[in-house]
Amino acid sequence: MHSTTEGLVLREVKFRESDRMLTILTPQGVVSASAKGSLRLKSKLFSACGLFCYSDFTLYEGRNGVYQVNEAQVKKLFFDIRNSVEGLAVAMYLAELVVTLHPTAAEAEQMLRLLLNTLYLISQGNKDLHQICTVAELRTISLAGYMPNIVLCDECETYQGCNFYLDLQTGQFLCEHCALKQGKQPNLDEASLAAMRHILLSENKKIFSFSLAPKSMDRLYHLVRAQVLMVLEKPPKTLEFLNTVLGDHAEPNAQQEENNYASK
Ligand SMILES: [Zn+2]
Repeated sequence: MHSTTEGLVLREVKFRESDRMLTILTPQGVVSASAKGSLRLKSKLFSACGLFCYSDFTLYEGRNGVYQVNEAQVKKLFFDIRNSVEGLAVAMYLAELVVTLHPTAAEAEQMLRLLLNTLYLISQGNKDLHQICTVAELRTISLAGYMPNIVLCDECETYQGCNFYLDLQTGQFLCEHCALKQGKQPNLDEASLAAMRHILLSENKKIFSFSLAPKSMDRLYHLVRAQVLMVLEKPPKTLEFLNTVLGDHAEPNAQQEENNYASK
């Protein structure tokens, strides 16, 4: 059976002499497909099947459930991503996050749009990569159904005006006052909470548009990372590379929170 779909190549693994096994995010979900001969320079599949290529694919479903790419036409190449090792590290990490979450048909199309926007911003090279990564991570896990409730304090319904505490395990959300009463240390300052609400509650086009002081950005970066590590059963393989190239300037508390989940 043949089917035609658009899709973004999230992983390519070479096998045999000139074949690739691809992992493709389509609007219907993540599929595996072999692209025979696609590593030959003369192959019509050569560029359309590369990593982070957004292409139209004609797929043939084999008997074992693995697809085969019959034809592929490039829609957009995010070639500039390879210009910076930091940008590439973020893109590879986000790709692994999406593959691991294995979105349902209902989630996949939005994740695809989000990832395309993210890759575009990375390739532009103008925006802080910590910010791009945090927005994409938080929005991705939210699309997968892990959306923290960060609107009102669970106890007194305070909305703003102080630091807040978000318990990543239980989802408990408390204003500073109620948190301290329960012996918990706030982990979100006002600015990082406002950014978090912006990322989760704005329409797609606006989610990347905000600015945050470095200290608050750092806090949010590590809190969101801790949330991602909690959602996933084990840390993504690409995380080490990401940490190596993006560096780590976390304040000890935020770093500790992330480590708790990374070492689980
Ligand atoms: Zn409260």
